[in-house]
Amino acid sequence: KSPSTPIHLIVVLLVTYFVCTMGKSNALTCPLPPELAAKLHVDPAAIDSASTDYGNIVHSKPAAVLYPSSIEDIQRLVKSSYNCPIPFGISVRGNGHSVDGQDMARDGVVVDMKSLRENKTGIKIRVSKNHLFADVGGEQLWIDVLHTTAAQGLSPVSWTDFLYLSVGGTLSNAGISGQTFLHGPQISNVYELDVITGKGELVTCSKRNNSDLFDSVLGGLGQFGIITRARIALRPAPTKVRWSRAFYSNFSDFIRDQERIVRGGQRDVANYLEGLLMFDNGTPTEWITSFFHPTQLPQIMSLVKTYGILYCLELTKYHFIEDIESEIDQDLQQVFKDFAHVPGFIDAKFVSYQEFLTRVPNVENESQTHPWQNLFIPQSRISDFNVGVLRDIVLKRNITTGPVLFYPLNRHKWDAELSAVIPDEDIFYTASFLHTSGIDNWQVYDDQNKAVIKFCEEAGIKIVKYLADYTTIEEWIKHFGSKWTTFRERKAQYDPKNILSPGQKIFNGV
Ligand code: FAD
Repeated sequence: KSPSTPIHLIVVLLVTYFVCTMGKSNALTCPLPPELAAKLHVDPAAIDSASTDYGNIVHSKPAAVLYPSSIEDIQRLVKSSYNCPIPFGISVRGNGHSVDGQDMARDGVVVDMKSLRENKTGIKIRVSKNHLFADVGGEQLWIDVLHTTAAQGLSPVSWTDFLYLSVGGTLSNAGISGQTFLHGPQISNVYELDVITGKGELVTCSKRNNSDLFDSVLGGLGQFGIITRARIALRPAPTKVRWSRAFYSNFSDFIRDQERIVRGGQRDVANYLEGLLMFDNGTPTEWITSFFHPTQLPQIMSLVKTYGILYCLELTKYHFIEDIESEIDQDLQQVFKDFAHVPGFIDAKFVSYQEFLTRVPNVENESQTHPWQNLFIPQSRISDFNVGVLRDIVLKRNITTGPVLFYPLNRHKWDAELSAVIPDEDIFYTASFLHTSGIDNWQVYDDQNKAVIKFCEEAGIKIVKYLADYTTIEEWIKHFGSKWTTFRERKAQYDPKNILSPGQKIFNGV
């Protein structure tokens, strides 16, 4: 019974406490203003919801979750981290639709923007009919931007396929869809931003004003600032859409006709262009075939069996109030007359503009994983990609379950000053393998994704990953290529303590 035992015990407890708190949850060991501390949630439900995302593969626990009720709450949080002796990481969860943990912050704080969306005050979505723009909170979902602007007869020009994504989330990447060949990605259609930098300063920026910050943030993977407002370009909204799909059995014909549209020859007739691939795996790819008349299904299945892959070109022509339906039909017939699709395997329908843009429903299923792969491929190597990836890897492995998208984009529609990275060719393709798998077998798809990258590396195909999932600084330096030096310098300027968006795993170890 030594008299030193209680002191010994206290020392052990204190050391254990500091090791646990300093190493793991330093967000909670920093001095926080009481009004902020009261809004930080540490309960298991909050922590669990911020430890997963749509991909459901990466899981990483924050120390706390902030449900902000104002922009000032977010600003206070960033300032607290900036002024803390050991700053903590802060990630913004726009709508949690990352697939590789990009919206997480291990031991830091996740800012869940859902609470701002639900709050009645704030920027929300304000449409200026006279000036053709909308001021939109970074937390807003594109689906709500669509409904609000369409109610005033206006619309953004560039979209994503799926609209349950936040404005801040897609502007941190690029935001691409079938309109991108014509209008550029969503990041090319923003006039102005309000941003909270990594120092906690709220700055308004545009091409004229603080242009360096503006360029950094767009496509900047959340590294330079938190977008709290974006001024989005609007145009008059079409009333209807003539939506067409045509099947191709031959890859060269398919890409030649796609490129005719993006190179401009057919610009007047297409407002949207994508491509969808159907692989022979014995079951109909419902989301492609349901577009066609059910009586055509046996023939479609027989075609895909014969050719292994069916290529489906998808285009739309917008219909404005003053347009005459029959003229749009004639224009489209004229386009398809010159195209080399399989005769008879073409269909078209008129749908409302909103119906077309909301064609991908909002489905969440926590028992599934999404080992996705999104690539940009230079046009000069697209045939090698078809043989080496689509035929020799994807077709042969025969595991594809989700949509595979494949369509060309114009480099000149992307602003080279912005942070987003794309291949160095006038035309490049996007290929998206949107796998859905069970909780236990996503590695099979991950293996395929790795095989695709390995093939491209060995064949010297300079692909660029969209929504990249790199984990080492060397991989990121390679990814950014000639843009890396600027990217790193901008980081040192706007987020010198590496606070923002640690889930992207770029600067965490630097
Ligand atoms: P989150 O996953 O919440 O966040 C993504 C990243 O952005 C994180 O690093 C986060 O910190 C950062 N971020 C979020 N909000 C802000 C903000 N306000 N300020 C600064 N940084 C912020 N992409 C396309 O381009 N085209 C598509 O058609 C398309 N379709 C998709 C369909 C589905 C079903 C899914 C799951 C994804 C799709 N994506 C598409 C990818 C999507 O654009 C990105 O994953 C996007 O980041 C998701 O938005 P989010 O609001 O859920 O972002």
